[in-house]
Amino acid sequence: MIRKFISRVLGRKNPANRAEPAIIAVGQHGLKRDEISRGCRHTVESLQESGYQAYIVGGAVRDLLAGLTPKDFDVATNATPEQVRQCFRRSRIIGRRFQIVHVNVGSETIEVTTFRGHHSDNGSSKGQTDEQGRLLRDNVFGSQSEDAARRDFTVNALYYDPASETIVDYHHGVADLQQKTLRMIGDPKTRYREDPVRMLRAVRLAAKLGLSIDPAARRPIREMAELIDNVPPSRLFDEMLKLLTSGHAVRCITQLREEGLHNGLLPLLDVILEQPLGERFVMLALEATDRRVAEGKPISPGFLFATLLWHEVLAKWDLLKGKGEPPMPALFLAMDEVLHVQAGKLAITRRIAGDIKDIWALQPRFEQRSGKRPYGILQQPRFKAGYDFLLLRAESGEVDEAMSVWWTEFLYGSDEARAAMLLPPQPGEARKRRRRRRPSGDAGQTPGVAE
Ligand code: ATP
Ligand code: MG
Repeated sequence: MIRKFISRVLGRKNPANRAEPAIIAVGQHGLKRDEISRGCRHTVESLQESGYQAYIVGGAVRDLLAGLTPKDFDVATNATPEQVRQCFRRSRIIGRRFQIVHVNVGSETIEVTTFRGHHSDNGSSKGQTDEQGRLLRDNVFGSQSEDAARRDFTVNALYYDPASETIVDYHHGVADLQQKTLRMIGDPKTRYREDPVRMLRAVRLAAKLGLSIDPAARRPIREMAELIDNVPPSRLFDEMLKLLTSGHAVRCITQLREEGLHNGLLPLLDVILEQPLGERFVMLALEATDRRVAEGKPISPGFLFATLLWHEVLAKWDLLKGKGEPPMPALFLAMDEVLHVQAGKLAITRRIAGDIKDIWALQPRFEQRSGKRPYGILQQPRFKAGYDFLLLRAESGEVDEAMSVWWTEFLYGSDEARAAMLLPPQPGEARKRRRRRRPSGDAGQTPGVAE
């Protein structure tokens, strides 16, 4: 009994010490091997035939148990990357810090990872973590039980063996999933310190799976939120994108606010959400995104970030115009400033930043509804995104609905109908056009907008 007690205490302290996993039979979990993609099964079976241990692990097992379709399949094995590569002709090792193998089967790519071990006994040895306790290296091979212990949540540490249709469960993940609980493996504070992104993952996975975050994992989030500042901007961008395109963006953002996490992410998100018009606009955009995900339609990251930051641009733009800056240059200055502020925290890629700017720059041009200009606007490569953005602005009450209705009719109208719709040129506009026509002969372009 004493031994049992000691091992229980030790087991708590260091979850990897729990060497005996539960082996859960198909009758208890219900996951059938034919729910696994063919490529993934082939990968696992080939590794097993070569004498290695191999399992499907992580999000795919979790999602299937929860009745969702997995995004992708990950395999964990005790074979080293080099050994994995030797098992598959169409495979390659990627990554330098921690190597994984991409195995191609038909059109599928399966990610195969060697079991990872402990970075140190207490998880914070010198040189492996930064001064806040964030893990800088995580690249030691280990046993399956160690691999399970370094995963984040119990529901993410399930290993499925298609041969026996059993699940190897070290941390009661199957029971937690059945009880709709998202529970951290190990001490939540330590695990958040090691990797603050786990706070965002907690919110995203809880929203996606309809789980409630276990109080022990939920409680520290508020006080530890500022550790997010310490996360590299490119990682934060990836995680934010996952969150916003999860199909549960509204639930995620709402929960981020409840947990006090929003201000660390997009420095200006709380400001936006405190302006009623801004909040309405952002929520409408997120609802539309969730709908698109549910319908299996693609999501444009540029469009999403453009919506999140638009009211910041509007505020800055107004400020600059108030100082006497002409409208278009003022808009471009405001856009650059807003994106620059974000860049410190969130590494928005250059391509996406380009998309965002195109969408924003089109907005004032929608006011031009006379002469040849509307035809030029229709030809813009990002017209459709800019137009969808305009619809949201109108729906949120920021601009007059008449303008979006006009553009919808113009977009779908016949040539005659379009011509009949054009408004008489504004006096200022006509003058400007005459001035610009002289050098270029092109009446339809606004400098700096078109690619
Ligand atoms: P999804 O694919 O739906 O975004 P996921 O849980 O599969 O969710 P991935 O980023 O694909 O997320 O990670 C695969 C697995 O790797 C997870 O299930 C988890 O076991 C482990 N993992 C991922 N990120 C972390 C982390 N920050 N800390 C510990 N384990 C992690
Ligand atoms: Mg995954």
